[in-house]
Amino acid sequence: MKTVYAYLSVLIFFSCSLVEKIRERDKDDYIYWSENVKLTWNDFKCKDELKSKHGASSHIEIKIRLDLSDKNVDVIFVRNLSCKKKDAEYDLGLLKHEQYHFNIAELFARKYRKIILEHPDTNDTEVFYKIHKDERQYQDLYDSETNHSLNREKQKQWEIKIDQELQKLQKYSSDSLRGVIP
Ligand SMILES: [Zn+2]
Repeated sequence: MKTVYAYLSVLIFFSCSLVEKIRERDKDDYIYWSENVKLTWNDFKCKDELKSKHGASSHIEIKIRLDLSDKNVDVIFVRNLSCKKKDAEYDLGLLKHEQYHFNIAELFARKYRKIILEHPDTNDTEVFYKIHKDERQYQDLYDSETNHSLNREKQKQWEIKIDQELQKLQKYSSDSLRGVIP
């Protein structure tokens, strides 16, 4: 964690714990969240064997910049740190489940953006940590209730709920605010 006031980086790992040093990565590794971009199994490019009972793991980061001249919140899926098992490639339900982890990160990024826009001078990191904590709980609940996508009924219900919540915060979306936050 660097200087929190200037730069707050939130990392989220799902399904398996990847202990990985944050390093400079090629920009091609990144997928920025957008309404128009959906994950495919080809985006799970990590070379290590996934040591988990789950079929896939997504590495998602929320990057918050609070420099005076550069405020923004990016939601990034990191291809080279996201893994899948070989047989997962046939499971489109699981792929959608992973997409919704990404969507949940975007949902919480919208909450960060709302605060940054409404309170441009905010430097109250407690507020950001509260959102971060809420997100972790939300992601965990999503995983436990859907049983990591295996409960298709619950999965569908969660997708509807997440879509509705995203809709409510539409004006703070990555797409509409890219480069707009002063
Ligand atoms: Zn999951």
